[in-house]
Amino acid sequence: MTATSDTTTNAPGAIRAVSGPVVTAEGLPQVRLYNVVHVGPQRLPGEVVRLDGDRAVIQVYESTIGLRTGDAVTDLGHPLQVELGPGLLGGIFDGTQRPLTVLARDGDDPHGAPMLAQGGDAPALDRERAWLFQPAVAEGDEVGPGDLLGEVQETGALAHGVLVPAGLSGTVTAVHAGPASVEEAIATVGDTPVAMLQRSPVREPRPHAGALSADVPLITGQRVIDALFPVARGGAAAIPGGFGTGKTVLETSLAKWSDADVVVYVACGERGNELAEVLEEFPALEDPRTGAPLMERTVLIANTSNMPVAAREASVYTGITIAEFFRDQGYDVALMADSTSRWGEALREVSSRLEEVPGEEGYPAYLATRLAGFYERAGRVRCLGGGEREGSITVIGAVSPPGGDFSEPVTQHSLHLAGAFWALDAELARQRHYPAVDPARSYTLYPLETWFAEHVAPNWAELRSWALELLGEEKRLMELVALLGADALDPSQQVTLRSGRTLREAFLAQSAFDAQDAYTPPLVQHAMLRSLERAHAAMTAAVDAGTAPDEVLAAKSLQELAGMRRWDAAEAARRCDELIGAIEEELVT
Ligand code: ADP
Repeated sequence: MTATSDTTTNAPGAIRAVSGPVVTAEGLPQVRLYNVVHVGPQRLPGEVVRLDGDRAVIQVYESTIGLRTGDAVTDLGHPLQVELGPGLLGGIFDGTQRPLTVLARDGDDPHGAPMLAQGGDAPALDRERAWLFQPAVAEGDEVGPGDLLGEVQETGALAHGVLVPAGLSGTVTAVHAGPASVEEAIATVGDTPVAMLQRSPVREPRPHAGALSADVPLITGQRVIDALFPVARGGAAAIPGGFGTGKTVLETSLAKWSDADVVVYVACGERGNELAEVLEEFPALEDPRTGAPLMERTVLIANTSNMPVAAREASVYTGITIAEFFRDQGYDVALMADSTSRWGEALREVSSRLEEVPGEEGYPAYLATRLAGFYERAGRVRCLGGGEREGSITVIGAVSPPGGDFSEPVTQHSLHLAGAFWALDAELARQRHYPAVDPARSYTLYPLETWFAEHVAPNWAELRSWALELLGEEKRLMELVALLGADALDPSQQVTLRSGRTLREAFLAQSAFDAQDAYTPPLVQHAMLRSLERAHAAMTAAVDAGTAPDEVLAAKSLQELAGMRRWDAAEAARRCDELIGAIEEELVT
C-alpha cells in the first residue's frame, strides 16, 4: 500500500478509544478529513472519516484487536491513494491495494482453508521489474496532463500508455528509452522527472476531457442481455438477486466474455470459499479474443467477509480508480462489483460504530449519495490530453438483497442509478433456468438500437420487440391456463405458448459451463431470434390455414430449434437459415 512508503508529516497523536474498526485519536491538530494515518505500534493503515473538535475519528483497515489507549497515531498528510502503473494487470489486491497471494485450497475441506495470503507491507507495484519504455515524445515537445509520453507492453494483451500526470505541463527536456523500473524517470517535463509509477486519491474521480454519449453497447455474448437488455459502454448495470440465483456466475461470464479491453473485478464481502472459486478459476481462463490468459487483462480486488470491514468500504474506490487509470489510456474497461450489498453493509457497520443517526434499515443517510458517487464514475469519455482518444468504464454491480426482497434500500438505489437492470429470479433459478434474468422485471434505458441496426441487422429492434411481446403474452396465457385449463386456449394461443417456451429454453437460457453455449456473437443471436420468429409465423400460418394445433406443434423440424444454442458459431447462422427453410417447408407448404 502506498501509505506505508510515505514519510510522516506531523508529530504523532494518541488513541483515545477503540470501537471495532473505528478508533478515536487526539493530538493531531493538522490532520485533514480523509487523510491516511498509521495506528498503533504495527502502523495499521486507517483513514480519518470524521473530525470532532480536536478528535479524529479513524476507520482502520486492519483488525484493531490489541490496540490500546495511548498508542501512537501518525498522520501521513495525504488521502487514501492507489499506485498506478505497469504491473497492475494480473494482480490480486485487497481493498487498500496490498498484494494478495492465492494459496492452494485444502482439497479435503472445500469450505475451510484460508486461501488468500496478505503480503504485509509489500507495495502494490513491483519495484524491481524492468519495463521496456518506448517513447512517443521527443525532447522539445510541449506536453500537458494526460498526453502520451510513451508505452510499455504490459502484457501480451495490452500496451500500457504512460501519461503526463495531472497538474504537470511544459517542455520535454529529457526522454529515456529502454528498460526502466516503475520508479525510474522515463522522461523529464520542464525540470520535473516523470516515472511510470503514479498515485491517485481513490475517493476523487480522475479528470477527463468530456463525457460522450452512451450509444455503443458492451457486447457480452449473453443472449438475454445483448438481445433484450443491453448495457452501453460507459453505462451501469445492476444485477439484483437472492442467494444462489447466479450473480457470481453471471459476473464471471461477463468478465470473461465482454468485449472490454480491461476487466477490474471487485469481489467484495464474499465468503472466502466462494471467492476461492473465482480466484482459482480466473488464472486458468483464456481470453477468448486473444487466447492469452484472461488474467493478462484483469485486475482482481478481493475482500472476503472475514477481512476487516473498513477495507471493504475502500475496495470499490480502489477498483474504480484503477479502472479510470486504464480508461484514461483509451481503453474500454468493465468493472464488476460483487456485491454492492456487502459494500453497503460495510458502510452500515462503520456508520453504527461512528454512532451516526441511522437512516432506512439502519443504513447511513448517505448510502444513496455514496452509491451514486460510485455509479457516476462509470462513463464513456474523451480522455484528457488524448486528442481523439476515448475510453470507457462500464460498471456492473451485483446486488444481494437479504431474502431476495428487491424493496430494500441498496436494490432500490441501484435501480435508480443503473441504466440496465437484470433482475435475477429465485423461481427461474429453482427451475435451473440460467441466467435467471426475469424479462418482466428487467430493463435497459440505453439507446442502442441504432448501433445494432447499423452493425448487426436492420431489424434488430423489431425482433427484440417481438420477443418481449411474446414473453408478455405467454405469461398472460399461462395465468389463463392456470385458471381455466389448457382447453381455454384457441389454436393461435397454443402456438404462442409454445413459441414463448421455445424462446425461453432455446434462446434465453444459456449455460455458462458449456463451451459452445457460453458465448453467442450478436450476428448469431440475430439469426437465432429470426429463426424463432419465423418458426412462430409458420406455426401461426399453419393453424390459421386449418391444420390441427397438435399436428403443427409436433412438426419434426421444430424440435431442432432447441439445439441451436449449441451450434458452432462459425456455422450457426447458416444452419439457422437451413432450419427455418425446413420448418417453413414442413408447415406451410
Ligand atoms: P449467487 O452468486 O447469486 O449466490 P451463484 O452465481 O453462485 O449464485 O450461482 C449458484 C449456482 O447456480 C451455480 O453454482 C451454478 O450451479 C448455477 N448457475 C448460475 N448461473 C448459471 C449459468 N449461467 N449456467 C449454468 N449454471 C448456472
